[in-house]
Amino acid sequence: MSASAVKADPMRLVREDLAGFAGYASARTAALDGDTWLNANESPSPNAADTDGALRRYPDPQPGALRTLLAGLYGCDADRLLVGRGSDEAIDLLVRALCRPGADAVLVTPPTFGMYAVSARLHGTAVIEVPLLDNEAPDRPIGFEADFAAIERAATAGPVKIVFLCSPGNPTGSALPLERIETLARALQDRALVVVDEAYGEFSEVASAASLIDRQPNIAVLRTLSKAHALAGARIGSVIADAGLIAVLRRCQAPYPLPTPCIDFACRSLSAEAIARTDAGVAQVLAERERLHAALTDSAAVRRVYPSQANFLLVRFHEPDAAMARLLAAGIVVRDQRAASGLGDALRITVGTRDQNNRVIDAINTLERTQ
Ligand code: PMP
Repeated sequence: MSASAVKADPMRLVREDLAGFAGYASARTAALDGDTWLNANESPSPNAADTDGALRRYPDPQPGALRTLLAGLYGCDADRLLVGRGSDEAIDLLVRALCRPGADAVLVTPPTFGMYAVSARLHGTAVIEVPLLDNEAPDRPIGFEADFAAIERAATAGPVKIVFLCSPGNPTGSALPLERIETLARALQDRALVVVDEAYGEFSEVASAASLIDRQPNIAVLRTLSKAHALAGARIGSVIADAGLIAVLRRCQAPYPLPTPCIDFACRSLSAEAIARTDAGVAQVLAERERLHAALTDSAAVRRVYPSQANFLLVRFHEPDAAMARLLAAGIVVRDQRAASGLGDALRITVGTRDQNNRVIDAINTLERTQ
């Protein structure tokens, strides 16, 4: 068997000093059964505001019903999925489980989601940057692309344990081809985990990288209910990965990561009826995204609107300060990208309702007239 045909073993990526680390044995993980639970120092009577008594007890750390529903939604086995407090927590868990503080590094591809570097810095882990390539072709829908050759070179040259890829990218909106992700993961094999953050996956035409994990177990995928499922306030995120790695992450997680009302709400949000509503909402965002893209592209105030596979548009302006000020004056708050590397003239605008998008278009067209 050639070396490249040997499957990656992601357990070799886990910090050696965590070998045998059992984590906290919470009162809900013990394999015990009974009808009188006196093992977690919970109150014997409910809080006065808790009319059905649902909150008296600690929640299940990995609620089985929610995990099964999420696994069904993302097309994976339940033992390959860990649910947690948003994908933000998943990013942090991955860094803590794989990277030795002061020794290992993560690789990020700016401009990208900021939490990868924040979690790494907080953990004492170095951050190596391999910038995305901004392929400008006004006549063709090309945007930011990952420099896969440079990522592979940097990840094999240094102590990189995790490569964070964001697809569709925040704030770029561009999705990465699955073949390139798989080839990168194969090249990094037992050296690094390739984490594909698919927070905006529902808005993209590119399929999920979760289907690659069977062949290439050093790939992990992040998903969330915060965007397309409209549940940002419930904080429900998932990691999909090799089952052994999921078991390690579980041991690194806080004892009871999800509040009971959020678990219940998330389960209800994954009924067939609720999912049909979510799908309709996504279709509406996609239609509005195209309309907003066309309107902003036509505006003389705009230098460039990037193609987007997500629920936002990255827009470069001729006068970015004036654009930001005009939008704010109209009461519209967008994400300021002006401090991000290579995006000094850019704002990121979330696709809103038809009325909200019309207000954005009007504000920017007014700007055009005053220039
Ligand atoms: N990944 C990306 C790319 C994001 O843009 C965000 C939220 N802005 C997150 C992860 C975090 O999402 P969650 O609400 O699941 O923590």
